[in-house]
Amino acid sequence: MNITDKKADRITQLPPYLFAELDRKKEEVQKKGMDIIDLGVGDPDLPTPEHIVAKMKESVANPDYHTYPSYAGMPDFRRAVAGWYERRFGVHLNPETEVLALIGSKEGIAHMPLAFINPGDVGLYASPGYPVYRTGIQFAGGIPHAVSLLEKNAFLPDLEAIPKDVARKAKLFFLNYPNNPTGAVAERDFFESLVDYARENEIIICHDAPYTEMSYDGYRPMSFLEVEGAREVGIEFHSLSKTYRMTGWRLGFAVGNAEAVGALGKVKSNIDSGAFEAVQAAGIEALTGDQACVEEMRATYQGRRDLMVRALNAMGLSVASPKATFYLWITVPAGYTSAAFATKVLEETGIVITPGNGFGPEGEGYVRMALTVSEDRLKEAIERLKNLAF
Ligand SMILES: *Cc1c(COP(=O)(O)O)cnc(C)c1O
Repeated sequence: MNITDKKADRITQLPPYLFAELDRKKEEVQKKGMDIIDLGVGDPDLPTPEHIVAKMKESVANPDYHTYPSYAGMPDFRRAVAGWYERRFGVHLNPETEVLALIGSKEGIAHMPLAFINPGDVGLYASPGYPVYRTGIQFAGGIPHAVSLLEKNAFLPDLEAIPKDVARKAKLFFLNYPNNPTGAVAERDFFESLVDYARENEIIICHDAPYTEMSYDGYRPMSFLEVEGAREVGIEFHSLSKTYRMTGWRLGFAVGNAEAVGALGKVKSNIDSGAFEAVQAAGIEALTGDQACVEEMRATYQGRRDLMVRALNAMGLSVASPKATFYLWITVPAGYTSAAFATKVLEETGIVITPGNGFGPEGEGYVRMALTVSEDRLKEAIERLKNLAF
């Protein structure tokens, strides 16, 4: 039997994996015995804070948590989320109808289109962007339509540039601020125009906001839901992954419009059985416990950011200092494609960075550097980059 021929179109039609070639080269460089500094993946290098780990240790021994979890998330977890949104953003949520626990926000983002997209429906997604937006729309049988984030617009979408017929057909719009991969942030005026746009065109906004706490110099990004009318048109995805260094734990949440949250919950109740309740208990500890770990996380990344941005600009590479996220979005020097520059950096220095076109064709001309190693390792990376001729 030929299994290959039986694969569904949704699998065979996936865009080619742009990092395959880079992964192969990384292996090659590693085999040569070169010391690799991996700035490729957006995964915090610091461990999960101790008080959260301690809560997990205690919770995992509790037989109450050994059974199937409740689909929407433990009531206490949803209340903790609502309390955190209230304290952090001044947004009041009904934990029963406006909060849904997710097995990491990636899971919710990927499933959201199944709740709203019929075959042939259009889904808008910001590009460059998190690849799950596009794939999720496609897996639901929808037509993904990229909305470009351009440097001249501070990496915010130009809503007026979206063709009117596309906007009329669109049901969802995925976007993300503070932004991965560009490090851009959005302010109230943008979110207000987004809500107006969503109302006019009847598009559900899916705002992905895992980096609101990873911000610097005293700047505090806002929630999309702070804007008047946002709850009528959309939902926000959030996660414990970046705020509390819990990427491996798989815990996130969707909040906002009750109808949309409920529809996503309906999809999920037919596919998964919720997040392990011991993990949710640890999540409650994260959201309601001592927040010093968040301040510590900000200070760590701010130090790394300052070190790297200064060094890169001194080398003649063009990079802005992001107000939030742990990503640097670096303009590729003239004469290189994103992939060619990332390959050169890898082969000559052993440093892994991500070519911008891995986040969509709109990312061509840039590379992304994640600040996920210690300052000592970053200093080593800087010494190596100084010897790079470009
Ligand atoms: C890290 C990240 C997430 C969070 O993913 P989890 O599944 O919650 O770990 C979501 N969106 C973007 C853009 C991210 O970079």
